[in-house]
Amino acid sequence: MTVYRQWFCSCDGIPRQLDSEILYGEEAAEPACEHCGATPSSDPKQTISFRDQEEWDD
Ligand SMILES: [Zn+2]
Repeated sequence: MTVYRQWFCSCDGIPRQLDSEILYGEEAAEPACEHCGATPSSDPKQTISFRDQEEWDD
């Protein structure tokens, strides 16, 4: 089983999914909202949320 954490930003009123798979060099980058620039650790308007998606291999 693999768990994917999907991040969302709701600065537009509608939660948009953030791209969390981008890698810069060897470090995993935080997902950031293209619209307002919020990230999970820098979220002044508290628009960031996440959902854990479980995937089962059968
Ligand atoms: Zn945003």
